[in-house]
Amino acid sequence: MAVLPIRITGEPVLHSAALPVTEFDDTLRTLVADMFDTMKEAPGVGLAAPQVGVPLRVFVYDWTDDAGTAWRAAAINPELWLSPIPIGEPDEDAESEGCLSIPGERFPLRRAQLATLRAFDLSGKRFEVKASGWLARIFQHEYDHLDGILYADRLAHDQYKAAAKAIRKNEWGVEGLSWMPGEDDLEG
Ligand code: ZN
Repeated sequence: MAVLPIRITGEPVLHSAALPVTEFDDTLRTLVADMFDTMKEAPGVGLAAPQVGVPLRVFVYDWTDDAGTAWRAAAINPELWLSPIPIGEPDEDAESEGCLSIPGERFPLRRAQLATLRAFDLSGKRFEVKASGWLARIFQHEYDHLDGILYADRLAHDQYKAAAKAIRKNEWGVEGLSWMPGEDDLEG
């Protein structure tokens, strides 16, 4: 198991659609184990394979809700069904989202309140999770990564411009950048 470098926005793998997994083998098991290690070290609540440079339809998540229930799994070849996205302006406090590939930045974004995730686990078995609130947001964020979409791409108006400015200021948005969880301190 290993912590992997996390690719930063501008790296082509983050902006391209990922491919379906066809082999549920040791390579996939190692990838998923490394992704859990990387997510924990970052730290983050979700991580998609393209973020560690692997163009496959895999994401992992690990999040504990207010009731203390831990939601943790690897979703392979996922499908996602969503409730309609509420109209109106996103709330800065309640709806601000971050991304390990745009490290240290947060911007508010409207997301669907309800999401149903259907995916395969590491043994190739189907599973389904009905999510609401923040877990539904995590699913939408990670699923987007598999289609080459970052949350910054979805921001509206002023937030979109602010994110683009932050990316320029950090000199991101170009090929070849990554950061190493546990070594680089991008927050401070
Ligand atoms: Zn992300």
